[in-house]
Amino acid sequence: MKVKTGKIIGGAVLAAALLFAGVTYFSHGQTENKAAEVPAEDEVEQAAPALPAHVLAADDFSNLAPSMPDIPVFDRYTLAERREKGLPTTLPDIVPYREGKVAYLTFDDGPDAQNTPAVLDILKEAGVHATFYVTGRQAEAHPEVLQRIYAEGHAIGNHSYDHRYEKLYPDVNGFLAEMEKTDAVIQGIIGVRPLILRAPGGVIGHFTKAYDAALRANGYVEHDWNVSSADAAPNHPVAQDFIDNIASETDGEATAHTAIILMHSSEGHEETVKALSGIIRILKDKGYTFGVITPMTPQPW
Ligand SMILES: [Zn+2]
Repeated sequence: MKVKTGKIIGGAVLAAALLFAGVTYFSHGQTENKAAEVPAEDEVEQAAPALPAHVLAADDFSNLAPSMPDIPVFDRYTLAERREKGLPTTLPDIVPYREGKVAYLTFDDGPDAQNTPAVLDILKEAGVHATFYVTGRQAEAHPEVLQRIYAEGHAIGNHSYDHRYEKLYPDVNGFLAEMEKTDAVIQGIIGVRPLILRAPGGVIGHFTKAYDAALRANGYVEHDWNVSSADAAPNHPVAQDFIDNIASETDGEATAHTAIILMHSSEGHEETVKALSGIIRILKDKGYTFGVITPMTPQPW
């Protein structure tokens, strides 16, 4: 089910529309197939508010409001299509979402055939949405896994075509070319493209002011992280290490409102899969709710 208006529709109205249409919709990580049974009017009133699986940006991006921490945002156009149609490519100034205590689970470098599906199974079981920063090369290799990420209400971000620093960091034009190439791959598979990205290796030591300006002009919003599972550390840490790292790094004031947590779901990250249920449990115990990264997600520092 695609919400084509790109607007948040009142929950009850949407629920009613979807119930009458007998279509599939998503609510908190679960796919429910509603039979074409027409509910009585008072039942519609009481139906749990159904949220759209994702929001599509308006042509002028005017609907990107800071009020939906659990709903992914996509664009129906690539940048090339926007330029062709004379539509804006720059986002308006966005006020970041800043309510409560939100943890953002992020998984980089996938999708793969094994660990990403295992992560998706665990997230579904826990009723939690996450963000997958995918590479174009991996998306091409496993398009059905990318489709599943999208269909199950998770956010998808651009993580370059093949993660090669020598193409990304000599200059900003190379970086943008890699992003556009990857957008096209993602849009070819799921029909929409992300507005969010994560610079491979993070921005520190990689981005210059020129990168910040170019990203702004092209409507991309980058998010690094402020909590690392360290699941890609060279000393082959195990699941319990990641749980301990995340537990200690979410103790301070710096993560009191926003904890953006770096993990990986690509090949070789079986220990991350093993750690995930424990990580979710610890974050819930600390009072976090779970959000997905959107252009409105606060920066981690
Ligand atoms: Zn990466």
